[in-house]
Parts: sequence; C-alpha cells; structure tokens
Amino acid sequence: ERNYQAFTARVSTEPSIIMLLMHDLTSIKRTEQMRVDFIANASHELRTPLAAVAGFIETLKGPARDDEEAREKFLDIMAVEAERMRRLIEDLLSLTRIELNEHVPPRGEVALEEVIRQASAALSPLAKADGISIVVEAAPDLPRISGERDELVQLFQNLIHNAIKYGRERGEVKIALKQQAATGRRGPEAFVIASVKDDGEGIPAEAIPRLTERFYRVDVKRSRERGGTGLGLAIVKHIVNRHNGKMQIESRVGEGSTFTITLPALKKQTDASVTELL
Ligand code: ADP
Repeated sequence: ERNYQAFTARVSTEPSIIMLLMHDLTSIKRTEQMRVDFIANASHELRTPLAAVAGFIETLKGPARDDEEAREKFLDIMAVEAERMRRLIEDLLSLTRIELNEHVPPRGEVALEEVIRQASAALSPLAKADGISIVVEAAPDLPRISGERDELVQLFQNLIHNAIKYGRERGEVKIALKQQAATGRRGPEAFVIASVKDDGEGIPAEAIPRLTERFYRVDVKRSRERGGTGLGLAIVKHIVNRHNGKMQIESRVGEGSTFTITLPALKKQTDASVTELL
C-alpha cells in the first residue's frame, strides 16, 4: 500500500516516469500479440492436414468403403498429411527449445566443415531425387568455432534443404567455407563464413526482410507442395543469434539465392599460452 502511494507521488511530479511505464506496456502488449498470432497460425497450420485426414476417414467409412483403388489412393494422401503434421510438430518443438536457450552461450568446440559435410550428407538422397548436386568447397586450415554441434547441423540442414526445395531441377547447390580476419574493438578477430548458394527461383527483394518470420512464405502453395513448414528460417535465425553470428541473404528472381552465415572463430591458442597451461 505504502509503495503504491510513494510511486504515485513520484509519478505526479515526474511525467517522464509515466511515459516509461506506457512504453513498457506497449512492448509487453506487442510480445503478447505475437504469441497469440503464433498460436493461431500454428493451430491453423495443423488444422488443415487434420481436416484432410478426417475427411478421408469419413469417405473411407462411407462412399469409398468397397472401392479398392480409391482406398489405396486415399490412404496414400492420409500418410502424406500425417507426415506434414509430424514435421510441423517437430519444427514447433525445435523452435521452442532453441528459443529457450537463445541466451545461453554455446558450450562445444566445432569444426564447421564437419558440420556442413554431415548436414549435406543427410540431404544428399533428397537432392539426388531432383537431380541436384551438392558441392562443398572449404578453404584449408579453418579455425574452429564455439558452438552447439546439433544446432549448427540443423541450421545448415535447413539452408541446404531450402536450396534443394527452391532450387533448379538438375541444378547445383554450392556451399563455400572460408575465414576472414578483421580488427574489432578488442583487437584482431577471426570469423568463419559459410555460404549456401542455389541456382533456383530466387526471392523478390521486398520479401527478403520477412523470410525469418514464423510461417512467412513467398509462395504458400509451393512451400506446402515441397513439404515446407514455414518455420525453417525462423529456427535458423535463433540458432545464428545464439552463436553470436550474422545471416545475410542475397537473391535475384530467376537466378538464385545465397544465404551467408558469419560466425566468430575461436582464438587459436598461441604457443605461449600452451606453455603456460603446461
Ligand atoms: P519453408 O518451410 O516454407 O521452406 P522457411 O522458413 O525455410 O519455410 O522459408 C520461408 C520462405 O522463404 C519459403 O517458403 C520460401 O518462399 C523462401 N525461401 C527460403 N529459402 C529459399 C531459397 N533458397 N530460394 C527461394 N526461396 C526461398
């Protein structure tokens, strides 16, 4: 009670405090609105395949009961829709887990080239099915980075998967790895830069700033056809943030897109510090 009075007394003499409070409420409201929108979108995304499955169950119980051919066809569609729901739930869980840890510094030490080779090996059957070749070009002696291996594998799987999904049939996905030195505020710094380039349909310039929004797609129908959930780049954004990295997107409609990830390298141990440790 007393605290409240003291507060109002101060407020009445200092209008700037009132403004501060209002500003805070706006940002809380915005976060709350985003949460509500997210749940509404996620529910809608799940409801669509669920409605399809429920519809086919009804048809199979009724009009198509004795139609062998229709039954096979409907069961196949139901399997596709069930798989879509599984992927969506998987991505929703990933996103929640990664977001929870976004402010926890990564613990492991990772060679990015190994991560990228693992990610591209996992997707090579999918690429092969579209006649797409994945090429990895890594500069020699790349420094290691501090990172969570599983998250980094997921980051590059999402980018390579997109390059395949929206790439040109019988095209190429090129992944390049190099290092870059720069002088930062705390002296010399090194970065490892990985880019994933496709020669596919490209992205209109006005869509680029929105790509990491949850459920944003340039072409909803095409994303669905290709098995997209609309969450891949939102997941990428959170993983990049956790690793103190940056993502840059360059694209030209009809020519292709390049997604470039820059991550801070671990400082190489100098001979002096090694001796110190010994
Ligand atoms: P999705 O599951 O729909 O692929 P993402 O979050 O991974 O969701 O990507 C969001 C949208 O960005 C995609 O629907 C697509 O429109 C566009 N996109 C992402 N990567 C590429 C790419 N390499 N080439 C063209 N468009 C892309």
